[in-house]
Amino acid sequence: MTAGAHDDLPFALTLYDGALGARWAWAGVTTWGWARGVLAARHASGGPVPAALPDGRKAQDTAKVRCPCWSAVSWRPDVDRPEDDRGRRKADGVAHVFALTLDYDDGVGPVEALDRWTGHERLVYTSWSHRPDRPKCRIVLPLAEPVPGPVWSGVYRAILADEGGAADAKTLDPSRIWFGHAVGHGGPHYARWRGGRLLSLLDLALEVDAKAQVRAAAEAEDRARRMAAAAAARAAAERHADRGEDAAGRLRRKLFAVDPDLRVRVGVHAGGRIVTGPDGGQTVRKALCPACGRPGVWFGVTKGRARCDHVNTCGYGAGEGVRVIEYADAVGFLGV
Ligand SMILES: [Zn+2]
Repeated sequence: MTAGAHDDLPFALTLYDGALGARWAWAGVTTWGWARGVLAARHASGGPVPAALPDGRKAQDTAKVRCPCWSAVSWRPDVDRPEDDRGRRKADGVAHVFALTLDYDDGVGPVEALDRWTGHERLVYTSWSHRPDRPKCRIVLPLAEPVPGPVWSGVYRAILADEGGAADAKTLDPSRIWFGHAVGHGGPHYARWRGGRLLSLLDLALEVDAKAQVRAAAEAEDRARRMAAAAAARAAAERHADRGEDAAGRLRRKLFAVDPDLRVRVGVHAGGRIVTGPDGGQTVRKALCPACGRPGVWFGVTKGRARCDHVNTCGYGAGEGVRVIEYADAVGFLGV
């Protein structure tokens, strides 16, 4: 290949001896000029290539999985990891992603793939089972700015959506590996490089990161609100438990346990509505849950304890349920 304008661009490359092992053979930051030479070099398959099976059937291709693989990522220092865990690929070990790589296996050939990304610096090579009548290829676009590993999944998802699902969406893992340019089934196998401007995903990465932060903040706020509500509900229940079992208390307890009118008023106070079942029995439904803040609490009008529809997550009414008198306290019912 001839010299290109971006040959000196720093470019991280990780090379694997095959697709099965998680341990890499080599990893380092080199230049795009060197890396594209490595990626374009066609190598023999990882063993004898069996005859291709008819359409729709996958060959048991040990030759393919033994082919050299690669990824364009740099790694966080892994000195903190256990000895036998170093030099292994894992998603949260990725520091930066240096290239956008896309698989086209739905009939987009190398020429069309180059066309789709016209104007950008890019390398395309045929995939293992590429044939002129069933073209498959992989395109590699070095990035103007490397994208941080933790942001990558969101960026890649957005790009795949943009591609209309034409690219392989199986994995968004930043540490995923790609098969190198090998002589596989079909053919002819070839690689082409085109010079151009570097693809920048910076704006997209910033947008994805900002959205993720807003989402995380909203989730944290929601979690804090639920925990505060649950703590208040527990405190109310404890306050109630501390009260003496005097006669007035016993009466009050009994009223909340059996008085349909009082129980309906509690439910209505908490925003619930009265639902009549097929057997004529009435239930308070959709009343405010003191633990999760959602309208999920229900209890029978004439008897039974209260629990939340979301008990699995908010815990309100777990087990036997909460006495309606305690629920009344928790929702600030002052009727009796
Ligand atoms: Zn709840």
